[in-house]
Amino acid sequence: MRYGTLEAGGTKMVLSIGNENNELTEQTSIPTGTPEVTIPAMIAWFAERNIDALGIGTFGPVELKEDSPRYGWITKTPKLSWRDHPLLPPLRDALKVPALIDTDVNAAALAEWKLGAAKGLNSCMYVTVGTGVGAGLVIEGNLVHGLMHPELGHMLLQPAENDPAPEGFCPYHQGCVEGLAAGPAIEKRWGKKAYELPEDHPAWTLEAEYLARMCVNAICAFSPEKIILGGGVMQQKHLFPLIRRRTVALLNGYISHPAVTEEIDSYIIEPGLGTRSGATGALLLARRALGELL
Ligand code: ADP
Ligand code: ZN
Repeated sequence: MRYGTLEAGGTKMVLSIGNENNELTEQTSIPTGTPEVTIPAMIAWFAERNIDALGIGTFGPVELKEDSPRYGWITKTPKLSWRDHPLLPPLRDALKVPALIDTDVNAAALAEWKLGAAKGLNSCMYVTVGTGVGAGLVIEGNLVHGLMHPELGHMLLQPAENDPAPEGFCPYHQGCVEGLAAGPAIEKRWGKKAYELPEDHPAWTLEAEYLARMCVNAICAFSPEKIILGGGVMQQKHLFPLIRRRTVALLNGYISHPAVTEEIDSYIIEPGLGTRSGATGALLLARRALGELL
């Protein structure tokens, strides 16, 4: 079998081929232009490789109800040419293969749960902290969709007292996780590229504070068995111990499970699949589209 995988992002589309061992064997990247240009280019790449099924992890918001006539459409995105535009249907119809779609972060959560850092558990949360903040959730062995899909990046947070820009930068909510803690928020607040800020810069204790507040809210809301943090900002590995420490402090003994009281170092963690979580999750969706038991 040859499984086609697509990680659809606002700046680029990453296309891969995967095999039955869940390995990615070939990959390419296409800049995200208008759908009229980008979709035919993706169809051409997959068509040459003769895929048997397609799995897509995408930016959102996206329609995920499989019985909806708009299944696999991008909906209210700020990327105007993609707003209310089909993504999955033209690929599935041109390639004539079964296809499934989910959010990029749900795909990553699926892969981490099946094959990565949360393997063998019933639940996990995967968060990307990058250009935006997004979270995917597996609970009791199921990806959470609900009304549409979780949008944890827009969870409102209490601003920190020492934040020089406590109003945040999200055009919808200002002080949500994304507005306070995504890469662009760090860069607007401090006027520098995030990777240029030294480890002892106050930006990082503030960043860890906000991500810890997000973790506390998620622990209280969903009780995930692992919290996996990925994305460009989490390349700053020194954030992990800061986030863990503040999460424990903010929980203040209320959640007395050993995962948080004793084993926080293995509870808030890096992705087990490194940067491959998203594409591997799309591969698993392709396998599900074929009805393989996964
Ligand atoms: P995307 O979210 O667009 O898929 P990334 O997860 O790479 O892509 O996130 C990009 C954002 O992450 C950039 O806006 C930048 O602010 C931040 N970023 C990328 N690399 C680093 C780094 N090494 N250290 C800190 N921040 C980074
Ligand atoms: Zn927001």
